[in-house]
Amino acid sequence: MQTPSHKPVTNEPPLILVRDVTKIYRMGETWVHALRGVSLSIQQGEFVAIIGQSGSGKSTLMHIIGCLDTPSSGEVLIGGVDVSHRSQKELAIIRNRTVGFVFQTFNLLSRVNLLRNTEFPLMYAGVPRRKRRRMAREMLGRVGLGDRQHHRPNQLSGGQCQRAAIARALINRPNLILADEPTGNLDTESGTSILELLEELHERGHTLVLVTHDTQIAQAAQRQIRIRDGQLVSDTGRSHPPPLPTPEHP
Ligand code: ADP
Ligand code: MG
Repeated sequence: MQTPSHKPVTNEPPLILVRDVTKIYRMGETWVHALRGVSLSIQQGEFVAIIGQSGSGKSTLMHIIGCLDTPSSGEVLIGGVDVSHRSQKELAIIRNRTVGFVFQTFNLLSRVNLLRNTEFPLMYAGVPRRKRRRMAREMLGRVGLGDRQHHRPNQLSGGQCQRAAIARALINRPNLILADEPTGNLDTESGTSILELLEELHERGHTLVLVTHDTQIAQAAQRQIRIRDGQLVSDTGRSHPPPLPTPEHP
């Protein structure tokens, strides 16, 4: 797996800064307060779990951090850049450069093979076909799917699909990986192996935010932030990043 640029962390501005964020959805005549003033900061290189029951606002928070959505009020800075009040088009550009997403339902394209699925983000980025193929092949190899490149998602297990989704999330070399209930549709064994893969990414210097309702799964992270009814209720605090990775990686 590739390693993102990894500088000493101590006095750096946070990679993610969320300040007094609210999100209110309108549902016909009523308003849903999904986030009620959330503040947090995450440093480059951290592995953080956001834990909360269903409906507590985890996915909403993740979508806002990942530039899929904007807050109703408050501020969000990613890498020092204010992303709170951007157009959808601007958000898409920032997102493409910065964030890799992993979802509970994998979100792979069912009609095309893993190679095509994995190279997909590079098409948006305008990378030429041959280079895309080479990078996708390499990335699939790194998540243990070197021999499944020409399989379509329905020819694979859930665990393999999630590995492919992780390969796709990594292909743009994102600074930040956001995983929303990534083991939610997997059996225990496949779930464990996906968590191990995420831990490995963290060890290689990636910043990870893992969203889960499961306290045990959250233990894979170094830091646990708990959310309830749209508010943070606890935070085990900033974790120390892993030591600088060695320059050469397989
Ligand atoms: P979680 O991921 O923790 O289960 P969500 O962030 O998905 O929680 O949802 C938080 C609250 O916001 C819930 O009450 C949910 O019903 C509501 N909500 C989420 N997305 C929308 C939406 N697009 N429109 C209206 N309400 C929403
Ligand atoms: Mg959710």
